[in-house]
Amino acid sequence: MSIYSDFRSAEDELYKCMKCGNCQEVCPLYQTTRKEVTVARGKIGLLEMFVTGEAEMTAGMAERMSYCTTCMACNDKCPCGVKFDQILLAARAEGVRRHGLHPVKKTAFTALRLQRAFNFGMSAGSKLQGAIFRRVEGRDYGARMRIDAGLLGKNKVFPRLARKPFRAGRPAVHVPQPRMRTAFFTGCMINYFYPDMGEAVLGVLKRNNVEVLIPADQGCCGVPASVNGDVTSARALAKRNLRAFEESGAEAVIVSCSSCGSAWKHSYERLFEEDAVWGPLAAKWAARTYDINEFLVNVIDYDRESLGRVERKVTYHDPCHLRRGQNVYREPREILQSIPGVELIEMQKPDRCCGMAGSFCIVHPDLADKVLDLKMADIAQTPAQTVATGCPACRLQLWSGIINAGLPQDAVHVVQLLHESYNNKGQ
Ligand code: SF4
Ligand code: SF4
Repeated sequence: MSIYSDFRSAEDELYKCMKCGNCQEVCPLYQTTRKEVTVARGKIGLLEMFVTGEAEMTAGMAERMSYCTTCMACNDKCPCGVKFDQILLAARAEGVRRHGLHPVKKTAFTALRLQRAFNFGMSAGSKLQGAIFRRVEGRDYGARMRIDAGLLGKNKVFPRLARKPFRAGRPAVHVPQPRMRTAFFTGCMINYFYPDMGEAVLGVLKRNNVEVLIPADQGCCGVPASVNGDVTSARALAKRNLRAFEESGAEAVIVSCSSCGSAWKHSYERLFEEDAVWGPLAAKWAARTYDINEFLVNVIDYDRESLGRVERKVTYHDPCHLRRGQNVYREPREILQSIPGVELIEMQKPDRCCGMAGSFCIVHPDLADKVLDLKMADIAQTPAQTVATGCPACRLQLWSGIINAGLPQDAVHVVQLLHESYNNKGQ
């Protein structure tokens, strides 16, 4: 029984909890609110009442399940091994089965399923963005909304929408006698906001003699839908991606977004746990999916001889779904430390959630900002010039926080620094 199909599948996890409260110590929401409903224990208590029949899964209880960034810090801290993320995903799916989706989410996830319409909307948005956003003074990158629409907080700094989606018409990267034939799953953030990250991924793989296909029929990974309980949309998006990559002839999927990586490695299998056709396909591709950092370090042992100097003090932020979701945290540090001139300076609590958490920062922008403030305080205590991370969504959140806090750093993906290093060789 899948957590996405029936809440009873999460009951065993629920009863592991001994209510010790250790999760309070690491929960970024509890640290900022001190409210029990925001921490794992509080929500587990409510859900126990639901499974014993003492309480209904009312719209109010379902709404309380939105108070979580799914950072999984409580999973790591729990002495009883409670996998709270599984409980939460099951509870949100149950909430949607009983009360339906919020109309805004329903519209957004439907649009994600209609890839052409979504592309058209994003292209139109890129042309209109001057009317919607005003540039941040003193920065050559980033803009705030002219009118506070109640989305993401009034001070949120956004990257500019790419004039052309990264994948549009993009040819595959072919190399003579490739070491491996891979396919790049770009995710929406790179496709629409951060083509510079996509260029860096392709450039680094080419430097390492890896062929990269870019399946045209790929779309959203489905995580925004699955974490919000829209199982129907999540399954539709997963099927499209699995079909596109199965038909591509690639040996492996490369991702550079922590949520997309978690989707391919974990969510797709869970979504199709009871499906005799899609389940095995999801399992096959889960075993062939690599975050770019782990691919470079653990699979192809990337070329370190051709690295040029990048004189930079760098601190690294661990994306929750990369560190706790995929156990990838040594590899990005190994890459950074291999770049001549880069000095890696660890911040306090590098694995503290940044507060982005996909739609969490839309639903609870003020709370997301408070979580981000803690991260900014950690960064401000370092002499770093650059904050590196492993996820485009974290990059957006960090960038916004840096600008609003008046800090001097920039925020980039690790692979961008590696790409810069290769390009600097011989200069
Ligand atoms: S740390 Fe684990 S056992 Fe303790 S209250 Fe939190 S979820 Fe329950
Ligand atoms: S997943 Fe993160 S935000 Fe959610 S309850 Fe656990 S520690 Fe708190």
